[in-house]
Amino acid sequence: MDNVKQAVLAAKNLTVKIEEKTILSDVNISFTPGKRTAIIGPNGAGKSTLLKALAGLNHRYEGSVLLGDEDTKKLSRKAFARRLAILPQGMTVPADVTVSELVDYGRFPYRGIMTAGDPKRDREAVEQALAKTHLKGYMSQRVMTLSGGERQRAFIAMALAQEPEILLLDEPTTYLDIGHQLEVMNIIEELNRSENMTIIMVLHDINHALQYADEIVVIKDHGIYRQGTPGEILTVDLLAEVFGVKADVFVNSNGISVLSPISLAERS
Ligand code: ADP
Ligand code: MG
Repeated sequence: MDNVKQAVLAAKNLTVKIEEKTILSDVNISFTPGKRTAIIGPNGAGKSTLLKALAGLNHRYEGSVLLGDEDTKKLSRKAFARRLAILPQGMTVPADVTVSELVDYGRFPYRGIMTAGDPKRDREAVEQALAKTHLKGYMSQRVMTLSGGERQRAFIAMALAQEPEILLLDEPTTYLDIGHQLEVMNIIEELNRSENMTIIMVLHDINHALQYADEIVVIKDHGIYRQGTPGEILTVDLLAEVFGVKADVFVNSNGISVLSPISLAERS
């Protein structure tokens, strides 16, 4: 994967309104290339809305999304998809699609309308994506019949087949058991470590954010509430302010201070 020219993904004065309602207001943020950023915040805060605008899935916003010094609205869909891939929340698939067919869809940015692209290169990219997500033995299985963890890995593989330098993931571990949650987090960590892939992920689990992110972005009240390192941001005070939850801190055997919610915080 060619990650020599790593561009900064950034939103400038980004405002998203849906049916007159302001979802995000004047957001300014840039994401450090080669780092893992976790976006956290309460339900309905606008995390998915931000991710979709960053990925160009929603173009109805004011302001701009920049990749390096290019306005992403001006890039062709395929040119953008060769550099950035997104795994949105709640993906569905047609009943008869196999794992290798699904992952092969990820090659669309490399094919023309009339041309087949480079079938050998496509096959290689699909195989590599399957290997990185531990799905080599599942190529001909139908996606519908996979377990939750396998299915999520298949969608990650589809995104990897795009060979992006930036990967966006929206709550990639939701509905998975704790073992499969860690498997997905480890795959993401490995992509970042071995390929220097920039990771921007919405996470529900504060302790995953503590353990797996280099930088934290907190979304609240239609904008960026805080941005910084996990140690700076993820504190007992922040959980009270942002989630209305009282928490205790414990140092785990990895030496990481984990947060354990105890009760709803008292309202002042
Ligand atoms: P989060 O991902 O942080 O839970 P979302 O970005 O999905 O939040 O949603 C933020 C707000 O925008 C919510 O209040 C939601 O109801 C609203 N919203 C999102 N998409 C739509 C839509 N297509 N139509 C109307 N409201 C929407
Ligand atoms: Mg969401």
